[in-house]
Amino acid sequence: CGIVGYIGNKEAAPILIDGLKSLEYRGYDSAGVSIYDHEINCVKTKGRLANLEEKLNHHMLHGNLGIGHTRWATHGEPSDVNSHPHMNNTKTISLVHNGIIENYMNLKEKLQEDGQEFLSETDTEVAVQLIDYYYKESNDLLDSVLKSMDKIEGSYAFGVICNDEPDKIIAVRKDSPLIIGIGKGENYIASDIPAILEHTRDVYLLEDKEVAVVTKDGVTIMDTDKNIIDRDVFNVTWDI
Ligand code: GLU
Repeated sequence: CGIVGYIGNKEAAPILIDGLKSLEYRGYDSAGVSIYDHEINCVKTKGRLANLEEKLNHHMLHGNLGIGHTRWATHGEPSDVNSHPHMNNTKTISLVHNGIIENYMNLKEKLQEDGQEFLSETDTEVAVQLIDYYYKESNDLLDSVLKSMDKIEGSYAFGVICNDEPDKIIAVRKDSPLIIGIGKGENYIASDIPAILEHTRDVYLLEDKEVAVVTKDGVTIMDTDKNIIDRDVFNVTWDI
């Protein structure tokens, strides 16, 4: 039910946890983070953010790129394995999702026939498996996400990171909220403004079916045909 992502020079984990805390009002039953440091490592758990912090105390994840999630389960019971982020089997792609993938059963069957091995009971996992499937063909994360959007029906905000393209977070949305926080030498994604307000007041408000390629030094917003969109910066004047 909440998404936060960070790319920059700072340690990602504390920024993600703080951001998720300010999204707690949205409700959740599980939480998790994926952080990149030469490879993607994921720590996630059923229960409160305090449980996640406890797990991280035993297994701290270092790195300057990451995505975090609080889950409000819709498909698949609240459990450690059903918590987000989700990963493909080779752990090269990690994804967080808010929303519901309506045609997930159909997609899951097709992907299973094509040899994708599923680990969880969530609707969300089809998204990471589909991106993985296309990535194996194209080796291009943006193209794989765009192709997947073409197949996925329902509501989604996604944050996606990839081992082989650790210079970016790809963020997309349709009928679920997602904003981009603009920093200096660092950028953020989040479900809502309070999650990033401590770091920046400049944001891009992503619209439906828009894609953002978020790097440390810039944000490129485009439509699903890769036409660049020139979005005005929205300056947040209010405080929490
Ligand atoms: N439908 C997804 C799940 O149940 C995402 C739920 C959410 O938005 O937190 O895992």
